[in-house]
Amino acid sequence: DAADPAAGAAVKAADRAHVFHSWSAQGLIDPLAVAGAEGAYFWDYDGNRYLDFTSGLVYTNIGYQHPTVVAAIQEQAGKMTTFAPAFAIESRSEAARLIAERTPGDLDKIFFTNGGAEAVENAVRMARLHTGRTKVLSAYRSYHGATSTAINLTGDPRRWASDNGSAGVVRFWAPFLYRSPFYAETEAEECARALQHLQDTLAYEGPSTIAAIILETIPGTAGIMTPPPGYLAGVREICDRYGIVFVLDEVMAGFGRTGKWFAADHFDVVPDLMTFAKGVNSGYVPLGGVAISAEIAATFDTRPYPGGLTYSGHPLACAAAIATIHVMEGEKVIENAARIGETVLGPGLRELAENHPSVGEVRGLGAFWALELVRNKETREPLVPYNATGADNAPMAAFGAAAKKNGLWPFINMNRTHAVPACNVTEAEAKEGLAALDAALSVADEHTV
Ligand code: PLP
Repeated sequence: DAADPAAGAAVKAADRAHVFHSWSAQGLIDPLAVAGAEGAYFWDYDGNRYLDFTSGLVYTNIGYQHPTVVAAIQEQAGKMTTFAPAFAIESRSEAARLIAERTPGDLDKIFFTNGGAEAVENAVRMARLHTGRTKVLSAYRSYHGATSTAINLTGDPRRWASDNGSAGVVRFWAPFLYRSPFYAETEAEECARALQHLQDTLAYEGPSTIAAIILETIPGTAGIMTPPPGYLAGVREICDRYGIVFVLDEVMAGFGRTGKWFAADHFDVVPDLMTFAKGVNSGYVPLGGVAISAEIAATFDTRPYPGGLTYSGHPLACAAAIATIHVMEGEKVIENAARIGETVLGPGLRELAENHPSVGEVRGLGAFWALELVRNKETREPLVPYNATGADNAPMAAFGAAAKKNGLWPFINMNRTHAVPACNVTEAEAKEGLAALDAALSVADEHTV
């Protein structure tokens, strides 16, 4: 892996000429040309190596280039690279079985998609057809994907440019004690008031008009806010009372990220539909899906399900999922995420919070942590304004640049940095990341008052 700046320059030139990038002003970006990746690291063409504390977009849960999964994809490619979705195919059947056996409760049927947004689109379609209702409730501070319904369900600024009157979506506030929308001072208060707020929203919307409530079990990009004990059980109870379909979006939190197969496992709650993607095969080949309860699946026993995708249950993606699930089990990847969270990342990040005036709160579990950066710990004023761009965003940009200089590729969203390494990150790698964060946070500290 010797440095090869000329090769990097060629990759970069073709990118700038022809690749149209997500979420970006095309003329203002400067994407790094990446030469390779392995485990928890990737490197560029100039000889710089980075510890990836983003897991791509929080999806390489087993790290890059895991040899078992690479071999499984190669083997499947040699056997059957692709086949249409209407047929029973070995890798598709087996992936569905392995996933269904691990999802909670009676979520035993799997509809495969190519990613998370399509999973959300189809979950909402199923909920609407199952209930005969159209409205869907989602939370502020959420992300559900960038296709039409999914982006309208999204409760953050990524929605604004695509908001088309929200297509039957009503948003509510979910619990978040650090910036409580309910003036609560304890988790119990936050939980009770958030449930009352949801109940009140339902009362005025008309429960009989609502097909589904969708929540990220633990909101991811919006800030890794673990709900207080009892909240999700309370939402489950409200859904049951009114015949509303409860959808949990586990696209980011699922498949080991939180130190269990699914974040829902921490709360003993079973949704009616659960969306997944990302970690299901660490994104080695695009794959997502909806895990469907027996009752909703039965709706489509004799009535055709009016939805489909050319690549639903793509054999290569399914082979990658099978191998990934076996790796997660055989190498105790999920146990590792839980242990690293409890013994290294959690304590280490809390120590950083004590030492750095810019860290207002540390929260998370497993390999799923957020640091809320603030100008002032007392007032909790965010280090940069909500949805800051340009000069307003300079403190976070400076923090990010300092992290990269120290060999750490950081996840940054608004005034937060998330520590979301591969779930099989080693103790030494996690500590290396903490040391780089320590140095970068000193730069953020310069912007505190
Ligand atoms: N839902 C959640 C919770 C996500 O985090 C994401 C992506 O980050 C999505 C849905 C959309 O997934 P995709 O980008 O695969 O469409």
